[in-house]
Amino acid sequence: MGKSLNILVILGSFVICGLLIFQSVWLIDTWKLRNEAFDNQVIKALRQVAQKISEVNKTELPKSNLIQKNDSHYAVNVNSPLDANILEDFLMREFDDASLNTIFEYAIYDCTNDSLKYVNYCNLSTGPENFDRSENLPRFNDLIYYFVVNFPQRESYVINDIKWNVLFSIFTIFAVLTFLYSMWVIMRQKKVTDLQTDFINNMTHEFKTPISSIKIASSVLLENVNIKTDKRLSQYAGIIKDQNERLNMQVEKVLNIARLEKDKFKLNFEKIELNEFIDDIVVSERIKFVNENGQLTFESKCDIAYIKADKLHLTNVLSNILDNALKYCDSNPKVIVRLTNRKNNYQISVTDNGIGIEKDNYKKIFDKFYRVSTGNVHNVKGFGLGLYYVLNICEAHHWKMDIDSTVDQGTTFKIEIPKSKEI
Ligand code: ADP
Repeated sequence: MGKSLNILVILGSFVICGLLIFQSVWLIDTWKLRNEAFDNQVIKALRQVAQKISEVNKTELPKSNLIQKNDSHYAVNVNSPLDANILEDFLMREFDDASLNTIFEYAIYDCTNDSLKYVNYCNLSTGPENFDRSENLPRFNDLIYYFVVNFPQRESYVINDIKWNVLFSIFTIFAVLTFLYSMWVIMRQKKVTDLQTDFINNMTHEFKTPISSIKIASSVLLENVNIKTDKRLSQYAGIIKDQNERLNMQVEKVLNIARLEKDKFKLNFEKIELNEFIDDIVVSERIKFVNENGQLTFESKCDIAYIKADKLHLTNVLSNILDNALKYCDSNPKVIVRLTNRKNNYQISVTDNGIGIEKDNYKKIFDKFYRVSTGNVHNVKGFGLGLYYVLNICEAHHWKMDIDSTVDQGTTFKIEIPKSKEI
């Protein structure tokens, strides 16, 4: 898990870097191309304007350098005096034909007082005219009869033209950020899970040594003649032995689950006859139910049901579910274990009359350490590991687990065991 997560993070980082580089290059290229296209459109339209002016003035256009460009300003060398009204009319028509739907300003060079006369601006767009008029358009010193055109909103016009590309880039960056955040959450979660597992592992191992010492000591105490003859002392020694065994079982349970995590468990498949097997478990568990004024019954709807499974794990699975049925019950527990023979599988179901589980929690209760709580107060003791273990074992056997519950009425846990032809 740790290794594959690291590989995933490294691969993910490469993909992200690649994606970001590709996205930036693509956006810059689109921006450049769109600017070039804008230039070409403008130059083509201005050529047409110059041509028309030369036809009106009956003059020849210069052979070279008809149009010069300085930043976003275009100077057109028409080689003859210009009339502002005619020029504006030509510019409007040509720019409109070229679909240059934006604002443009134009100025005509007046050689009598050696200055550019700012003439007018025109708006070919449908948008508002909120722009600052240029105070002075630049002069082109080597020309005499020329006019200058400027597009003050050229940049926003081009950006608007590539808005889908920009939006797509923003979306990609957003997706990348979401991915990075998820990675961070996963890594943090993994760290916490690793810490928890190590902690459980270490703690349970630490418990094992004192438990074995207590076991030996209590056996010695129980064998002692003086204690054997003293009823009260032998009762206390018995309690120490029983409680120590209980403690040992709890520690074993937790340790088994910690081992599950590290994939260290191996299934030891054996042939099992389910009627007999479940009946044995029900008989040994029944005493707990009787002590709580409850009932535990077994109903079988098939005569014989052979499966292959790990006996120890299947016993643990059923006793975990039965323990829960007893624990999560407010009234006298009435629990029925059923075995049904279905077309392709055998189904074991455990139905209780307990507090029930809300639908929202169906999945969560199988998570490690998850416990349904009411206001963070747990009336019933537990680690939140039982069903996690149950699900792991069922999955390892390729069994299907299902749950059906009604709050305040009860819960049914179902295990479907596929029939095997090999048995
Ligand atoms: P634990 O019992 O140690 O808390 P489990 O993994 O066995 O842990 O169960 C997880 C949670 O699922 C429990 O805390 C309980 O809230 C809920 N749960 C399990 N079995 C039942 C049941 N039969 N009826 C109601 N709630 C249950």
